[in-house]
Amino acid sequence: MNVYDSDRMQDLMNAVGYENTDKIEDADMVIINTCHIREKASEKLFSDLGRVRIHKENKNGQMIVAVAGCVAQAEGEEIFKRSKIVDIVVGPESYQTLPDLVGKVLRENKKQINLDFSPNEKFDLLPNSKNLNQASSFLTVQEGCDKFCTFCVVPYTRGSEYSRDVKSIYEDALRLSEEGVKEIYLLGQNVNAYHGFDENRNQSSLAKLIEKIASIDSIERIRYTTSHPRDMTQELINVHRDVGKLMPFLHLPVQSGSNNVLKLMNRKHTRQEYFDIIARLREACPDIALSSDFIVGFPGESDKDFNDTIDLIEKVKFSQCYSFKYSKRPGTPASESSMQVEETIKDERLAQLQKLLTQQQIDFNNSFKNKTLKVLFEKQSPKSLKTSSNNKIQLWGKSPYLQSVIIDLDSEEEARNIFGKIHDVEILNSRPSSLVGRINNISHSN
Ligand code: SAH
Ligand code: SF4
Repeated sequence: MNVYDSDRMQDLMNAVGYENTDKIEDADMVIINTCHIREKASEKLFSDLGRVRIHKENKNGQMIVAVAGCVAQAEGEEIFKRSKIVDIVVGPESYQTLPDLVGKVLRENKKQINLDFSPNEKFDLLPNSKNLNQASSFLTVQEGCDKFCTFCVVPYTRGSEYSRDVKSIYEDALRLSEEGVKEIYLLGQNVNAYHGFDENRNQSSLAKLIEKIASIDSIERIRYTTSHPRDMTQELINVHRDVGKLMPFLHLPVQSGSNNVLKLMNRKHTRQEYFDIIARLREACPDIALSSDFIVGFPGESDKDFNDTIDLIEKVKFSQCYSFKYSKRPGTPASESSMQVEETIKDERLAQLQKLLTQQQIDFNNSFKNKTLKVLFEKQSPKSLKTSSNNKIQLWGKSPYLQSVIIDLDSEEEARNIFGKIHDVEILNSRPSSLVGRINNISHSN
């Protein structure tokens, strides 16, 4: 989501004449886009600001510094107090006003802050993206969350659930497809709660939206993230059976395998319900790869609760996952619980859980050795060709199951035939977090 927002901020500033630079010394403006989901986010921001300060001083103050994202939303005016170099504080639902805020800083020489929640205005005002150079693009369809899991800041920093209209999403997808995009990645904090209006002012669903986007000929792949088990409807599960362009991969965070902890988390689903969804998904799409998020050491999590999580992982078998130690977030109910788990226990549980998840990922990747996978090579041009130690050009792509696949090529010429398209790749080797393969017959391959 933040990658998407950062790209949109670039588009906004590009539209008023700013260009991107990799060198901070050349920058007239620096935007730090922040995430607040786990601890240390604000400390990280202020240490980053410390580094930016040196550059701003070297330029005699001729540099606009903006702090965006959820730390901006959560800390607001405090940021100006803690760092004198910041000119703009702007939240994740109001960054469409960035060019305006920059104009005001330049004209009035005054600090600017905007933390409004206005997602509909935001999407209306965002410019179209330019020079994507990517065959895969994120597309936000839904924002915010009304679920209030007791550990999570999202409902406070991103506001309540908002779904964009089908028409505006479809138009974005169409435009992206005209720019060479082959894969659309639908985004939302609770993407499967999507309920935007269609052209007849009827409430749509994510399933219907996926079908509509699948009707665009040159879009070959569709994905969506992040889903909540509670909103995993049979209609959506059926789309995994019926829409070939929908990739056989689903990120469906469960957080814990213990009903006791799920209840304390206010997740609104049980472990049995999760197993049931997985069974129905596998019936609809037998080769679907599954991924999840886990939190260990949630307040009140006992050894038995943790073992239930291990047991759930052993039963489901995931292809890749994210896992975190519970981190107290100010203002959330769980942070005030008297049942906090000791840090050393959290460390032990995380290590045990990650060992199991890594093994599952290795097993999953190993199962593709000597098989052929359809891989989308996402870059559209040779801007960032990487040459490896053996003088080969390395290209990265994505399998249908969201694995990174690396191939070695002899020349830029070969690379040009590969960029931005889907190719058959023979898998030679597997690594814990990637596959290594080769394309036979490059010039004829497509
Ligand atoms: N909407 C998604 C998750 C969004 S937040 C869902 O409902 O699953 C992304 C992930 O960050 C969460 O799945 C959770 O695993 C993790 N996370 C959120 N708050 C956390 C906290 N306080 N401590 C540790 N991990 C947290
Ligand atoms: Fe946070 Fe996801 Fe729960 Fe919403 S559903 S509160 S985003 S973890």
